[in-house]
Formats: sequence, structure tokens, C-alpha cells
Amino acid sequence: MAAKIIDGKAVSAAVKEQVRAEIERDCIKAGLAVVIVGDDPASRVYVNNKKKACELCGIKSFEYALPAETTQEELLELVDTLNNDDNVDGILVQLPLPKHLDEGAVIERISPKKDVDAFHESNVGKIMIGSYAFLPCTPAGCMELIHSTGVDVAGKECVVIGRSNIVGKPMAMLLLHENGTVTVCHSKTKNLAEVCARADILVAAVGRPNFVTADMVKEGAVVIDVGINRLENGKLCGDVKFDEVSEKAGWITPVPGGVGPMTIAMLMKNTLTAAKQKKQ
Ligand code: NAD
Repeated sequence: MAAKIIDGKAVSAAVKEQVRAEIERDCIKAGLAVVIVGDDPASRVYVNNKKKACELCGIKSFEYALPAETTQEELLELVDTLNNDDNVDGILVQLPLPKHLDEGAVIERISPKKDVDAFHESNVGKIMIGSYAFLPCTPAGCMELIHSTGVDVAGKECVVIGRSNIVGKPMAMLLLHENGTVTVCHSKTKNLAEVCARADILVAAVGRPNFVTADMVKEGAVVIDVGINRLENGKLCGDVKFDEVSEKAGWITPVPGGVGPMTIAMLMKNTLTAAKQKKQ
């Protein structure tokens, strides 16, 4: 039987509407600063989408488009200025940065209270112990999509393919916090297909088009496809071979229109959280 499609656009619209309504109801002033260095076209698209989402939610957005040759000192100086700016509740530095810049040092310079990406070491640590203000946007968005299916994570076999700091590792932690039995797979995993086929909830964050095939998926599983891969013909494609997996899974996210829209919605939610915490 064909899988039900998890509509990321609809879930994302609902999250943004909740953010908008709360900002309006409680007259909250929230501001997000987005810093982009250089002219990577994909980053440009993301930044524009973030700006649009801010407008929709009633969040003031401040954009800093810096030239590719910006120095580390100049970038850190801007981060310091934004850390001290009361109108700015959240700071997002669009990654990847040009190669001559030290991403780690920039992330660590952002005030943890304004770290709406939740990449700062102190926020990563808080997520590990389950006491956090912000969750990283993409894994948090995946959790919202799982919740939208009505499937309870507790006690389920959950398999995450990928162990990156921004997706795979925090994703595994969030599933664990909801009492899933979690396995993390990566490029050195043996019997990958077998491990994946045990999953009631399978999250693919590999970055390889059509990597997950039907033989790797359990009948009726919830399949969350984080991958965004650009094919030679210009089309976007996920990590999951949608046509065949959707015949076997119970629930599946499409690409585009699945996890992608959720990331920005969760960023709006984190910015609202930062603004509310400032008031406390
Ligand atoms: P990454 O390259 O940092 O990590 C990929 C992971 O996949 C690694 O941990 C690696 O061990 C694992 N891997 C690679 N080859 C493998 C193999 N053959 N078998 C098993 N595991 C393998 O990538 P990332 O930043 O985690 O992103 C993953 C994908 O998600 C990319 O396509 C990226 O574009 C996408 N992404 C989407 C969003 C979104 O908003 N939807 C956000 C972030 C990333």
C-alpha cells in the first residue's frame, strides 16, 4: 500500500502561524540577524527564504551581506556588535563560510542566548543532557514531522543514517529523549541495509541521491528524508528513492516539500524563544 505523504509545507505553515499569533497576541518584539559572507547562490536562496519567513511571522530581520574577502576579525567584530544589540534576539551566520574563515570560532563567538541555530558548544551540551532552550532547526523540524504522523516514538526502533553535528547526532539525541531505541549509522557501518530495515522510524541524512532503497525499509515505517541533493538536470532529490520506498513505507516526506520548509519554521520558533527569554 502506498505511504501517506508527510506534508512539510503544511506543518511548517502551522508552526509559523503559531509563532506569528503568539508575537501578535503578546506584542513581542523579536529580531533575527542573518549574516551571509560571499555570494554562494544556494546560501542566497536560504537567506531570502529566512527573510520572507520573518516578515510573515512579524519578526524584524536584519541582513548583513558581507563580501567574500571579509576577514575573520571583521566577522567576529560584527558578531560582537550583534551580541550587544538589544534589537537582535537571534543571530544566524549562514554556513558554509568561505574557506579562509574559521566557522567553529565564529559559532563560539555568538552569545549562546542568541544562538538560534543551536550550534554553540554550550547549547550542544544542553541538548545532550535534555535541558535546552533551542534545538537545532533541522532535527527539531524532523521531530515535528514525526509528531504530525501521530506515531509515538517511545519504544520504537529508530535508525538515523548520518552522524553530522548539525543533523545526524542531534537527531539521534532527540529521538532518544522521546524514548526511541536509537541506532546511528554512518559511512563505516556494516550491514547498513539490514540495520535500516529494522527501523520503525528511519531518518536519512547522508547527502547522497536515492541512497535509501525499498529493501532497506520496513513495511509501514516512517521515513524522514533530510537529504537535499541537486542532480545534473538541476532537479532536487532526497536521499531516499521516493518512488519505490513510498510503496513500502507507512509515512514518507517528499523532497522538496518535506524537511526543507521545517528548518526555517523552527528558526522562527527559536527566535521567538530567544525574544521571550530576554524579557524574563
Ligand atoms: P554531512 O556530509 O556532514 O554528513 C553525512 C553523513 O552521512 C556522515 O555522517 C557520513 O558518515 C554519512 N554517510 C556518508 N556516506 C555514507 C554511506 N555510504 N553509508 C552510511 N552513511 C554514510 O551532511 P549533513 O550536513 O548531515 O547533511 C546531510 C544531508 O542533509 C545533505 O544532503 C544536506 O544537504 C541535507 N540537509 C538538509 C537540511 C534541510 O533543511 N532539509 C539541513 C541540513 C542538511
